[in-house]
Amino acid sequence: MICVYIGLGSNLQNPHQQLQKSVDAIAALPSSRLEAVSQVYRSAAIGPGEQPDYLNAVVRLATKLPAESLLQKLQEIEDSQGRVREQHWGPRTLDLDILLYGDRTQNDPHLTLPHRYLTQRNFVLYPLADVCEQKSVLPDGVDLATLLRHCPRGDLQLTGLTLGAGR
Ligand code: ATP
Ligand code: CA
Ligand code: CA
Repeated sequence: MICVYIGLGSNLQNPHQQLQKSVDAIAALPSSRLEAVSQVYRSAAIGPGEQPDYLNAVVRLATKLPAESLLQKLQEIEDSQGRVREQHWGPRTLDLDILLYGDRTQNDPHLTLPHRYLTQRNFVLYPLADVCEQKSVLPDGVDLATLLRHCPRGDLQLTGLTLGAGR
């Protein structure tokens, strides 16, 4: 089993419900076991124009799926929840990013690992810290605690909302 971290985001059509649905779908992936779900965080959108706030979370998944198959399945979940690919960084019902796939590093634009903005985004790093087990070190050896120290919380808020695993 490979230890994978997936970032979840939504800012359209009841984001909390979108995140819960996607957690359920991820829990049902073949050859995989959902191991942990972070708290739910809220932050202002970074994309173009006026957009609703985002809700974000991170899950930890143990999986035997190859990275490419996992990405494809995550995109199918996005599609099944009405993701429309219009504008880059536009508002969306659901965004599922592979943040880390074990220790794998690759620069393919189709699948970059670790996720290319992982270290810069507070709405990714803080929920990631909720679900990291011993995995406090990234493939390049940088410690998550160090990344957090260099990434201000900014407007990131804990919502108090929860996501149930394996319902
Ligand atoms: P960002 O990369 O800034 O988070 P985004 O999530 O809005 O942007 P999308 O439009 O969802 O970007 O995805 C664009 C493409 O990124 C996808 O088609 C996918 O092939 C590619 N991609 C590259 N690396 C990853 C990754 N680690 N996880 C998910 N998609 C990735
Ligand atoms: Ca994203
Ligand atoms: Ca994405």
